[in-house]
Amino acid sequence: MANPSILILAGDGIGPEVMAEVKKIISWMGAKRGVHFDVSEDLVGGCAYDAHGKPLSDETMAKAQAVDAVLLGAVGGPKYDKLDFSVKPERGLLRLRKEMDLYSNLRPAQCFDALADFSSLKKEVVAGLDIVIVRELTSGVYFGEPRGIFKEGNERVGINTQRYTESEIVRVARSAFELARKRNNKVCSMEKANVMESGILWREVVQEVHDREYPDVQLTHMYADNGAMQLCRWPKQFDVIVTDNLFGDVLSDMAAMLTGSLGMLPSASLGSPMANGRPKALYEPVHGSAPDIMGQGKANPIACILSFAMALRYSFDLGEDATRVEKAVEKVLADGVRTADLMGPEGGKPVSTSQMGDAILAALDASL
Ligand code: NAD
Repeated sequence: MANPSILILAGDGIGPEVMAEVKKIISWMGAKRGVHFDVSEDLVGGCAYDAHGKPLSDETMAKAQAVDAVLLGAVGGPKYDKLDFSVKPERGLLRLRKEMDLYSNLRPAQCFDALADFSSLKKEVVAGLDIVIVRELTSGVYFGEPRGIFKEGNERVGINTQRYTESEIVRVARSAFELARKRNNKVCSMEKANVMESGILWREVVQEVHDREYPDVQLTHMYADNGAMQLCRWPKQFDVIVTDNLFGDVLSDMAAMLTGSLGMLPSASLGSPMANGRPKALYEPVHGSAPDIMGQGKANPIACILSFAMALRYSFDLGEDATRVEKAVEKVLADGVRTADLMGPEGGKPVSTSQMGDAILAALDASL
């Protein structure tokens, strides 16, 4: 059987620096675990614009459609700020998400014990936290028509439309239930069914998908405003949260920040299953290209490494290896290894990007 395939799009700024550490782990998987990937690399973002005048070429788009998983670093930087909107680096990423139809965005909020002091919440509220927010990514109020700013009499009116079809809700609900089955088997669906018809439909459809296809998963419903309160009060009550595009945008940023630094946050965007049963998938750290620290060996590679761990779990069914990578990260943090963004007020000497990657590799070796 052919090896599973990965397309690496390291992008701009610190993207290639953090991706270099993921490549070390991919090689480690081959050498030490006998798991080999067919890896190809290409350009996205500003570097693609420099090469072909476009932030994503049609050839790269076709490659992304053909592989089992895309790993992306980051795009953008001040050099490209004045470009026309149509060729800005971010358009490359948006094209990938749109043409791969990546409707399910997974944003984990996981708090490593060693970093619990970084949270703005009390240590006991966040220590050991491990939840995932599933945000619907391709529909809802960010896309619904009509939209625009119109003249009505003597004043302007701004309009956006929240619109969800039943099939859009069904597919993201399935994604959340499938995920829950690989975790602690609990889904909480969040909407505003008390004041929005689209929320009433959302609640009904999620319940129907549950009753018909996933009765073994524990399902609860919550109004999204209460959900925001509960995330601050006691986030450990949740396992998987599924919600729409707008609420998911806000709730996932909030949940992520419960856990500390931007340099720690991975994400996955999943689409429909391909012929081989694997979902279309793109994995990327939540952070951007960090031009302020690029080229200085200061970037924290953990968000990118944890994104690769998500790929192992969700694209390649290698949950055991995903956990091994996550535990290796946990171990180095517990040992006090820190990149500059993770230094507390007590100070100390930070390690470089590649030293952090090497420490994680050493912890992986020790796990065998
Ligand atoms: P950013 O995430 O790049 O940086 C915000 C701050 O966090 C900076 O101080 C940076 O040094 C720090 N930081 C980010 N990642 C880090 C890491 N791994 N290790 C240590 N510190 C880290 O956001 P920004 O400064 O608003 O944007 C910079 C560029 O990135 C812009 O061009 C923006 O459009 C782009 N961007 C891209 C993405 C993406 O590729 N998905 C996301 C956000 C921003």
